[in-house]
Amino acid sequence: MGLPEVLENIARACQRAGRSPEEVRLVAVTKGRSVEEIREKVLAYGTFPLGESRVQEALKKMDLLQAEWHLVGHLQRNKAKFAPRFALIHSLDSFPLAEALAKAAVKAGVRLKVLVEVNLGREPQKHGVLEEDLPELLARLRELEPLEVLGLMTVPPVGPEGVVRPIFRRLSELADRYGLPERSMGMSGDYVWAVEEGATLVRVGQALFVD
Ligand SMILES: *Cc1c(COP(=O)(O)O)cnc(C)c1O
Repeated sequence: MGLPEVLENIARACQRAGRSPEEVRLVAVTKGRSVEEIREKVLAYGTFPLGESRVQEALKKMDLLQAEWHLVGHLQRNKAKFAPRFALIHSLDSFPLAEALAKAAVKAGVRLKVLVEVNLGREPQKHGVLEEDLPELLARLRELEPLEVLGLMTVPPVGPEGVVRPIFRRLSELADRYGLPERSMGMSGDYVWAVEEGATLVRVGQALFVD
């Protein structure tokens, strides 16, 4: 395992699906990893966007590592002011959070790139909008000029291929329907299926760091 093997698996999945590997970006999820580990297991192989779940942990690492930082975990509204430090927020899931992000973007004088997280597995403990609420949220987000909605993100339930793959396929269908280019889906256990089903961003942590 490790990053080179993950890239190889992504390339092979692209080949099987008739996609170009350039369509898929690996976001290295570095939560819980030290700066030394990140240098050794990720940055030694090239430049990759780095994903963190928690704002505080990300802010600390940003001071130590030059990288394109993504927030992949849930963002609390009271932390929205830190959003302009991230190149992409994967986890927008409500209009009130969007309003807080727009305000923070105006204050920082930037536009913020975001993905809308969709809870396709309908798991109560998970974040993300339900599929039926997606059209209205996307429509309302158009009112918020400082936000650039680039795509959709999902975290599927843990389960066998027969459960997970259709969820990835559904996220791709929804992204197509709304004309959104980015699909953030796939983690260490399922990124190969995600790539085959159209992922443009895979968020892989664990598989990069095991020997
Ligand atoms: C932790 C995390 C990942 C990476 O998961 P691994 O199983 O370590 O690959 C991806 N996305 C989100 C939202 C995460 O919290």
